Parts: sequence; structure tokens; C-alpha cells
Amino acid sequence: MYVRTRTAAALLTAALATSLLGAAPAWSAPATDGPSSPTASASRHQVEAFAEDGTISHGTAPAASPYLAAPSPALSAPTAGGDGDGEVTALVHNGDPATKLDVVVIGDGYSAQEQGRFRTDAAEKWREITAVEPYATYQRLFNVWAVNAVSPESGVTGDPDRATVRHTALGSYFWCDGVERLLCVDEKAVERYAAKAPQADLVIVVSNSTKYGGAGYNDVKSTLGYEGIATVAGGNAKSGQIAVHETGHSLGKLADEYAYDGQGTYQGAEPPEANLSTLTADRMRAQGTKWSRWLGQASPDGGTVGAYEGAGYYPTGLYRPTENSIMRSLGREFNLPGREAMIAGFYRHATPLTSPTPTGTRLTAADRLTVDLPVSGTRLHWYLDGREQTALRGRTTLDLGALHLTGPRSRPHLLTAVATDPTPAVADPALRAELTRSLSWSVTR
Ligand SMILES: [Zn+2]
Repeated sequence: MYVRTRTAAALLTAALATSLLGAAPAWSAPATDGPSSPTASASRHQVEAFAEDGTISHGTAPAASPYLAAPSPALSAPTAGGDGDGEVTALVHNGDPATKLDVVVIGDGYSAQEQGRFRTDAAEKWREITAVEPYATYQRLFNVWAVNAVSPESGVTGDPDRATVRHTALGSYFWCDGVERLLCVDEKAVERYAAKAPQADLVIVVSNSTKYGGAGYNDVKSTLGYEGIATVAGGNAKSGQIAVHETGHSLGKLADEYAYDGQGTYQGAEPPEANLSTLTADRMRAQGTKWSRWLGQASPDGGTVGAYEGAGYYPTGLYRPTENSIMRSLGREFNLPGREAMIAGFYRHATPLTSPTPTGTRLTAADRLTVDLPVSGTRLHWYLDGREQTALRGRTTLDLGALHLTGPRSRPHLLTAVATDPTPAVADPALRAELTRSLSWSVTR
């Protein structure tokens, strides 16, 4: 949904007004001959670029990389070893992919001998990401899969200088769209490798480089189900922030909170994103919409929640919740509305309640049942035939004899566990509904 060109700034306004914000442009974009003209853009994607000082800009990237190595024949038939092309390792395994948010990390520019270091770099990126809230609190909702991509050459194009060329498994390259820190990849190659993991909700490409850089592909739709790709330099300690910002778009459905000079005043309808509004604080409070529940509260990124003008690329006419959250500059925290949206996004893919015993299993009084609450503080209530068993509140292991079942031996009873994450970080009632899940089993004496 993002367009930014050096030659056609006008196109930015038109594209934002139509595709990002759902409003008609006040005027039409002039024809351009540049690389982002409508004809050429069919094979390009809009990407975000990240400067070392934390500021964010945009470029466009071709879907295909000119630096892609010939596909490895091994990819279609992974070897039995640990370091083969397409081999998958669970870096973090918290449970069944159906109940977790699955992050797929793919390495690029790592040779066959460097696959061990790729996994070390991937684990370090995940550590950087989970240092940021709400990831820190919610990390047991995630699985992280490392997919080896064996590159014939070590390193990536554009590192250390523009003249350096390396042909790699995913074709990573700096200087994408002429921007040194913009690290692009071949989207089809990414999808081929991502398909090796059990499930891909989020894809992060870690490139074998210590040079600061990355990219956010936030309009990529994959048949695998992931909605964006973040690229980061594997050996650079700050690049994990890029992935965190990108997941603000993909998981949190959040808008960018930055603006461009000269972009003018936003004239469109109220945008759909939770962190963008045409309303001043007074009007938002009066209407009870958007982040009105958070107004006046101290925000983790500093200051208090209000309506700060300048957001969604427009310096005027659009407001953001706080002065400077991670959706405006890297190295920052999410603000309160952003944190709320992220937690709700986590729970769209993961559940607050799991059990090794499949729901619907027929159990007897001699059985023991366990459940897992991945997020600390989660409340657990048990119901037998619809009546709460208050003595069992919070118990994650039950000897079913303790239920003291009565009635005929053949009569099945319905046992239900209901888990709710009571976090005050989610205030919207519609989002709070995502924070409760239940599992049920049939139990006989
Ligand atoms: Zn962004």
C-alpha cells in the first residue's frame, strides 16, 4: 500500500488516498516515465527503508532479484543432514503450529559451512524482537522456524560497497532502488523456502551481513498466508527493530505514524487503522472512537496519549496517538493503542489455552488432564456440564476422579476449560473477545 518515488511524488498522494486510506484522490496523478510508473509498478512492490538514525522512508523493489543464484536441486529433496538446503530447525518451539504464531526465519548469503552461524544470527534477531513489548510478555505464543538456504557465495550484493556482487539463494542486495540501506530480496525465492516450514504467519529474511539495513514488504500476499516480509542484516545488532516495525503493519494492522514535508493536508475519510484518525482528541473523546479509551494515559513510548497532528504521511489533517512510537521511528516502543493492536494480532494466530489432549477426546475418571496457559496471569475456569467448578480455578492439571462424577457410568459429562488473558493492555471490547478461548472434553465415570 505504499508508494514513494523520487520522480513522482504526486503518485504517492494518489496511491495513499485510494489504496491505503480508501478515499478518492482530489486530482489524478500525472503520467511518469520513471521506474514507478503504473506500467512498471505491476512487477514492483512498495517497501519501507530504514536509516541508521531511526527515520523511515519508502522505495519500490522489483519482485525478482537480479542476484538470485540458480535454484538448488536439493531444495526439492532436503538431505538428511542438519545443514542442507531447505532444512528446517525449530529455534523456538512452544507448541502445535495450529495454536501458535509461527515466525519463519530464512537465511541468505550463508554458505553451506555457515548454516550454524545463520541459526545463531536468527536466534539473536528473535532475542532482539522479544526484548520489545508486547513480544516480551507474549513470547510463548510463538514458534520460530529457521529455514536453511544454502548460498553458493558468502555475503550479499552491495556489502561492503556498491560494486560487490554475490549470487545467493534469495538474491538479497543493498542499494535497492538506489537506497544504500534498502535490502531487497527475490519474493518467489522467499516463498519457496518459507513453504518448507510447517506454517508461516510471519517471514523474516536474515542476510549474512553486518551492514545496517533491511526492508519492509508490507503489501506482499502469499498463498502460504503470510502478509509481509521483513529483511534484516543478520550481523547488525540494531536491525531487529526493522522486523518489529514491520510486524506493526502485518500483525497489528497499524499505519505508519510519520509524515512527509510537502504532502499537504489529508482530505479523505476516516482511515481504518487503529492508530490513525482525522479526529482531534476532543472530538474523538466525544465520539468514543479510535483510541479514545487511552486518551490522557501515560504511554510506554513516552508522554501521554492524545492526538498529535502528522501521521499516515500527511503533516496535517491526520493524527497519531503519541509523539514518537515505533510506528514513527525505530528504537522506540509501541504506544498504548499500538500495543493493544499487537496483542490482538498475536491472538488472531495463537491461543491462550492449549492441551496435549485433543478437544473432544473421551476421558474417564481415571485419567489426568493437563492444559497449558502460555501467558502468565491468564485466568482459568473449569465447567462441568455448564456449572463452574470454583474449587478448580487456575488448576492446570486435573485428576478427573476429583470431579466426583455421579449418575450412570455410561453417561458422558461435558468438561470445559475457559482461559482469559485479563491484560489491561487490551481495552476495546471487540478485541477483548479474542482473549478468551475454551476447550472441551467428554468424561465418563
Ligand atoms: Zn511502516
